[in-house]
Amino acid sequence: MSRVAVYLRLSMEDTDDRDESNSISSQRVLIMRYIDCQEELRKMERAEFCDDGFSGTDMKRPGIQRMLGEVKAGRIGCIVVKDMSRFSRDYIELGTYMNQIFPFLGVRFIAINDHYDSREHKGNTAPIDTAFHTLLYDLYSKDISVKVKAALDSKCANGEFAFGTAPFGYEKSKEIKNRVIVNPDEAEVVRGIFSMAYAGNSSTQIARMLNEKKMPTVMQMRCSDRKNKDGKIRAWSTQAVRHILNNRFYLGEMTYGRTSRKYVGSRAGVKTPETEWKTIENHHEPLVTAEVYEKVCSFHDGISVDRKTEKHPLVGKIYCGGCGYAMAYKPLRGKNKYRRFECYKHATLQIPDCCTYFSADMLEELVLSILIKELMLRGDAGKQKESLRSFQKTCIEKLEKELAENRNQRKLLSQEKADLYESYALGKMDVVSYKEKAEELTEQKYLLSVRERELLEEFEGISEEFRKTEEDMRQIIRFSRMEKLTQEAVDIFIKRIYVYKDKRIEIEWNFRE
Ligand SMILES: [Zn+2]
Repeated sequence: MSRVAVYLRLSMEDTDDRDESNSISSQRVLIMRYIDCQEELRKMERAEFCDDGFSGTDMKRPGIQRMLGEVKAGRIGCIVVKDMSRFSRDYIELGTYMNQIFPFLGVRFIAINDHYDSREHKGNTAPIDTAFHTLLYDLYSKDISVKVKAALDSKCANGEFAFGTAPFGYEKSKEIKNRVIVNPDEAEVVRGIFSMAYAGNSSTQIARMLNEKKMPTVMQMRCSDRKNKDGKIRAWSTQAVRHILNNRFYLGEMTYGRTSRKYVGSRAGVKTPETEWKTIENHHEPLVTAEVYEKVCSFHDGISVDRKTEKHPLVGKIYCGGCGYAMAYKPLRGKNKYRRFECYKHATLQIPDCCTYFSADMLEELVLSILIKELMLRGDAGKQKESLRSFQKTCIEKLEKELAENRNQRKLLSQEKADLYESYALGKMDVVSYKEKAEELTEQKYLLSVRERELLEEFEGISEEFRKTEEDMRQIIRFSRMEKLTQEAVDIFIKRIYVYKDKRIEIEWNFRE
């Protein structure tokens, strides 16, 4: 009779949260209680596997390896974890186990807090490279919400300013550490900009007015020593004005938690959805009133983040899996609280299967990790193709040799023909046998030239193939190390991506087969 595996994991990151519910003992209690309530499981023998102090992003954990060994030996019929991230924080890995390995081995997988039981999700056998389950989406969302450290929370709540340089209009206090105070000169400029906007001027008009008044720029006011050193003319830009009008810091608000590092599979920092930013009101002295700020915002609908952060590498590649139409990219703007892709046609066609929207940041992360995985797989396959490459090399060498031989033979034939003519000219042979022999040699020469053309064609084909393989390998190696999805990588490798209502995605690759 197969056993039920209880898998427990606690990592260093988890202890940071001071979340008691993650401790090994409370994981154990939760799982045991769950099993006790399950008719079918409660009768089974239990086997506990535990990894204390191991991160979920790596599968090299002694406990999990032992458990997987037992699973492969057919001694485990069911695995129970508190939540999926206990098993793995690498969603590719997790998906591979859930969608492929466990179903293949006939192992049931239960993640209690995710309300997931593989028995209720049968038939979801889409290959993992291209398909993602809703649950992985949940896992992702849950993970990014746990990111701002408690220490930062309390610092900000106490009115401390714990980040680099103070925004324009403010400076760091020299008396009290980590506190921002108003810088009168800069504040005057900020207030001026707000009052011009309040009067109905656009950002461009404001920038022009500031330049007409020869108002020094932020850069000039802040770094007097760097003034025009590089010979560039400094002027207020629309962008700079927008940047100020768009900053709620002038309302006395402090916002933080805009980027996050700590979540599934990520190495680089990512922007968090605006809804998850934390804001503290009355953090410092405001430069504008809420009334002015709101009115300015209503005039300047669409002033939002800098345009340069608006670019998304996946624009133009995303298609709705429900209706097949391209999806529109919606940047952060006005009511949009997070960057996303939306189905163009849903509003008019009302197709129920449409993927109405998909978070752009999440999509970017998913695509990045799938792409890297794919590149690594192909890189491995390429390494295994070493024998193919050496075969190609041998072919090339053989062809070269044959070509050289062919040329040599033709030379010999030409020589023979010349000799033949000489014999004939010297009267050593009659005209009939000369003609006969000469024709034979011409025929032989012709056959050799035909063969040479064939060989050359073959040679070029195989050399081209060989060069492509090498080039592909180089590209794969280069891109499999990227930490952020770049436009270049998307253009090279991805044809299009279909996204589905249940948050699955399907990638059509550009790879040469
Ligand atoms: Zn659609």
